[in-house]
Amino acid sequence: MKAAVLYETNTDLVVEELDLSEPGNGEVMVRMEASGVCHSDWHVIKGEWSHHPLPTVLGHEGAGIVEAVGPGVTNVRAGDHVILSWRASCGLCEMCQKGRPNVCDLPIESTSEARLRGKGTRINQLSGLGTFGSYSVVPQVAAVPIDKDIPLDVASLVGCGVTTGVGAAINTAGVQPGTSVAVFGCGGVGLNCIQGSALAGATTIIAVDMLDNKLDLAEEFGATHRVNASREDPVARIVELTGGKGAHYAFEAIGLVPEPFLQSILCTRRRGVTVWVGHAPERTPVTIDARDLMQEKSVIGSMYGSARPQIDFPRLLELYKAGKLKLDELVTRRFRLDDVNHAFAALARGEVARSVLLFD
Ligand SMILES: [Zn+2]
Ligand SMILES: [Zn+2]
Repeated sequence: MKAAVLYETNTDLVVEELDLSEPGNGEVMVRMEASGVCHSDWHVIKGEWSHHPLPTVLGHEGAGIVEAVGPGVTNVRAGDHVILSWRASCGLCEMCQKGRPNVCDLPIESTSEARLRGKGTRINQLSGLGTFGSYSVVPQVAAVPIDKDIPLDVASLVGCGVTTGVGAAINTAGVQPGTSVAVFGCGGVGLNCIQGSALAGATTIIAVDMLDNKLDLAEEFGATHRVNASREDPVARIVELTGGKGAHYAFEAIGLVPEPFLQSILCTRRRGVTVWVGHAPERTPVTIDARDLMQEKSVIGSMYGSARPQIDFPRLLELYKAGKLKLDELVTRRFRLDDVNHAFAALARGEVARSVLLFD
C-alpha cells in the first residue's frame, strides 16, 4: 500500500510503500477512496501536539470501501461503503455507557498493535486510522456503514470537520430556534458550526474571520452577518448586532491563538453559552477576568461535536440527501496523494475550506 508518512515534525510528508497486516479479530480492512485534509493534521506536522507518536501515517477524515474483515466482525462486510470514525470507543466505560462515546475513557487505538511497517520500522496510524494511506486496518466500531449512493469524497468530510462543526451546534450547544450565534473562524469546522446553527433554527448568525474569502464562504453556508476581525473589534460588533445584549451562543473554531477563545466568552449575553471547538496547540493559556462568567455564562469544550458516530454519520448524510446540508461546497480542491504537501501549503495559506486527497 501507499501512504504519506510524517517522520519528523516540520518536515514534508514522505509518500512511500508500506506493508500492512491482515485484519485481526474484530478488525476491518478499508480501501481508502478519499481523505479530507484537516487542521489537526497540520497541528501534528508543526509539532504542536506531542501525544501522537511518530513516524505516523497522517489523516483522520476518511471514507472508503471494505476490502476484507477479520473474525468476529458483525457490522460490515466486504464491499460496504464506510466513513471512518477517529474515536474508536470501547462501548463499556462510564462515558460510553452514558451515550458519550466521543469522550470514551479507553478508545481502542490506545491498546492496538502496530499494523504498518515501512523499511523495517513500525509506522503508527494517526488516531488509529491514518487515512492518508491507500488502505487502513481499523477496529470495527471505527467503520461506520453508509449508503452506497453517497459520493465518497464528500462523505469523507463527515468523518471529522462536518461532524465536529455541525455537532458542536446541534449536540454540544443545543442551539435553539430564533437565537443569535457568533462563530469565530470560518474554515472547514467553522463553516459547519454556521450551517449547524442554521439547521437548528438560529436566525442571527455572525461569522468572524480575518480573511474576506472565508467570510464569502460563510455567507454561502448561512451566515447572516460578517465581521472581519482584522478591521474591527468583533466583540463590540457582535454586541451591536444583537441589540446590545450579545449572542446567545458563540463558537471558537480556530484553535490557534488565545484571543478568540476569550472573545467568544465576552461576546455572549447573560446565560450565554460558549463552545470551544478549535483544538489549540499545547500550552495555550487563556486569561479571563473571574467576573466574566458571573452572569451565569458557561463555557463548554466540544469533542468530535459530541457525536455518536454510528447514529450521527447516517443522519448527517440524510440531511445532505435532503438538500439541507452542504457537503459538495466544502470541497475547495482535490489533490492526488502524491501531492499531499501541496494540500498542506494551500491549507497554511488559508485558501481552502477543505482539500480532499484522492487515491489511485
Ligand atoms: Zn479533523
Ligand atoms: Zn468507552
